[in-house]
Amino acid sequence: MKRKVIAGNYKMNKTVTEVEEFLNKIKDSINVSDKDVIICPNNLAVTTAVNILKDTNVKVGVQNISDKDNGAFTGETSAKMVKDTKAEYVICGHSERRAQFGETDELVNSKVLKCLENSLKPIICVGENLLQREDNFHFVAVKHQVKNAIKNVKEEDLENIIIAYEPIWAIGTGVTATSMQAEEMCKYIKDKLEEIYGENSKKIRVLYGGSVTEKSAYELLNMPSIDGALIGSASLKEEFVNIVNTKVED
Ligand code: PEP
Repeated sequence: MKRKVIAGNYKMNKTVTEVEEFLNKIKDSINVSDKDVIICPNNLAVTTAVNILKDTNVKVGVQNISDKDNGAFTGETSAKMVKDTKAEYVICGHSERRAQFGETDELVNSKVLKCLENSLKPIICVGENLLQREDNFHFVAVKHQVKNAIKNVKEEDLENIIIAYEPIWAIGTGVTATSMQAEEMCKYIKDKLEEIYGENSKKIRVLYGGSVTEKSAYELLNMPSIDGALIGSASLKEEFVNIVNTKVED
């Protein structure tokens, strides 16, 4: 069985001081040896998080990068800048960025490639909206997003990418996909990855995200095709400790 990943996406929440206080409080309890734990605070708090977590197994990520290397791109952050902070992961193509900042599949793909070029690990978010699910178009929608996001990713980089299936109707809504719905799509994504990369596709971990709580974590994390969870609102609370420490059966 692959090591499960638990990633927390703070979105635009918590000041640097609040991140500092919160991580100092929970860092020992999220320093586990059986899972990969990743914290993605806002960019201003990344160095603080890296410093607080430096003697633990917990890694730090950012929530977005530019697909450009440097130059006149006011407000943007390059992959090289992220790498320099010692953060290791980058959330790419979160549905909020796709919907509110116009990120296309092509842009997500160029961000993914930029991460890999700079030895950063992308957490690539994909997921259908409610209309697509109601129209039974969710598999096709997710297949397109996955294929477009990983275009030109080399076989040797597969172990460095993570895909997070996050149905848009389940994000921040309190409506979690059932564990069967999440399992079904994560398995489907894995089948599609296998069609592209064969056996090597097994190196890619596929997570579920969308209103995961300490209550739903056990069932979700124990589904065979779900390699972990991307957590939004519950990662801002001490509840995150319980999610990280959820028992995964052998
Ligand atoms: C997310 O935004 O990636 C997410 C999963 O949020 P929430 O857990 O709040 O639904």
